[in-house]
Amino acid sequence: MPSTQILVEFASAVTSGSIKVVDLTQVLSEDTPLLVLPDPFGQTAAFSRQEISRYDERGVAWHWNNFTVGEHTGTHFDAPVHWVTGKDLDDNTVDRVPPQRLVAPAAVLDFSAECAADPDFLLTGAHVEAWEAEHGAIAAGSWVLFRSDWSKRDPHAYTNRRADGAHTPGPDASAIEALIARDVLGFGVETIGTDAGQAHLLDPAYPAHTLLHGAGKYGLQCLENLDQLPATGAVVIAAPLKIRDGSGSPMRALALIAEATDD
Ligand code: MN
Repeated sequence: MPSTQILVEFASAVTSGSIKVVDLTQVLSEDTPLLVLPDPFGQTAAFSRQEISRYDERGVAWHWNNFTVGEHTGTHFDAPVHWVTGKDLDDNTVDRVPPQRLVAPAAVLDFSAECAADPDFLLTGAHVEAWEAEHGAIAAGSWVLFRSDWSKRDPHAYTNRRADGAHTPGPDASAIEALIARDVLGFGVETIGTDAGQAHLLDPAYPAHTLLHGAGKYGLQCLENLDQLPATGAVVIAAPLKIRDGSGSPMRALALIAEATDD
C-alpha cells in the first residue's frame, strides 16, 4: 500500500525544483491559430473576450471578462465523442474522463528533424517500432507525444496553409494502429490537429481521429515545449474543462520531469 511519504517527497521535490514542471500550453489569445475547414463545413470560433468591468463604474474594484472560444481552439483535449467513430462509447465526453486518466506517463517521439525536412512527414508504425528499439516498449496507459518542433514556427509557417490545404506532419494509419495495440492513453501533437494537414488523402481519411477515438483514446493538440522533455520518464497532467457532454476543451497541460543530478 503506498505511503503518504511518497506524496511528501514528491511535494518537496517540486518545491525544491528537483522535479521540474514544464508548461506544455500555448498562450490562449485572440491571436491563437485556428483549424480552417473547407466549405461547406462549420468553423471553430477564435478566442474572443468581452470586458465586464475594469475598476470602473461597471465594477469599481474589480476586473473581469467573459470569453468565447471553440472547444478545439488552442492547446486542447479531444474526447472520443469528437469523432463519429467514438460517438457511442461509454464515458466519451470531457466531463466523463476518469480523473485518474488526467495524470499519465509520456513517451516523447522526437521526429523534429524529419518534420523540418518534410512538412508532410508521416509517422508510421515502423517509426514507432524503431523508437521502441532505442527507448523501450511504450507502456499501456501512456500518452504518446509526437515532437515535431512545429510549436517553434511563426504563425504563418505554423498553419502552413497553401491552395490545397494545410501542410503539417502527422501519423498514418499504421502508426495509430501500433499505438492502439499498445493500449496507449492517447496521442499528443504540437500542430493544430492530431492528424496531418493532408490527412484527408490517407486511408482511412483522418486516421488519428478515426482510429484513436473509435478505440476510446484521447488527443492533445497545440502542445509546446516538447523539446524540454526526455524520451521517457515525464509525467503529463492534461486536464480539460469539465464541460457537460463536451467534445473537447482548452486546457492547461503540464509535464513533470526529474532534473538530472550529479550523483
Ligand atoms: Mn481537437
